[in-house]
Amino acid sequence: MHIVGGEFAHDNVMYELGYKRLGFPIQIFSFSCDESGKPLLDEMSADTRRLYEQCRAGIVDERPVVFMGIRKIALPVNDPVGRCDCGQLVVLHSKVNKCARCGGVYGRDGGLVASP
Ligand SMILES: [Zn+2]
Repeated sequence: MHIVGGEFAHDNVMYELGYKRLGFPIQIFSFSCDESGKPLLDEMSADTRRLYEQCRAGIVDERPVVFMGIRKIALPVNDPVGRCDCGQLVVLHSKVNKCARCGGVYGRDGGLVASP
């Protein structure tokens, strides 16, 4: 395989829970969550988790906090693309990427992991 470029751009989708603290100044807080709105607590630091709990309770620093909903964020990603020895283009988007034509498996850097 040789790398031919990164033309297969796509979006890496993430979700956030948004909260707004009322008063002056208005503050916005956001927390990573999944598509259904379940917070990703394991990915939060202890401080962030404490702030999230305060937002859920509706009070941060003695000011009311309102829930604004789930926000979808799409971050563009440019994955490298390689041409397999069989001629097929393979998008190298994960740790192991399988050629759809011959079944060869490549790593993200285009190195052969398993022969077809
Ligand atoms: Zn192939």
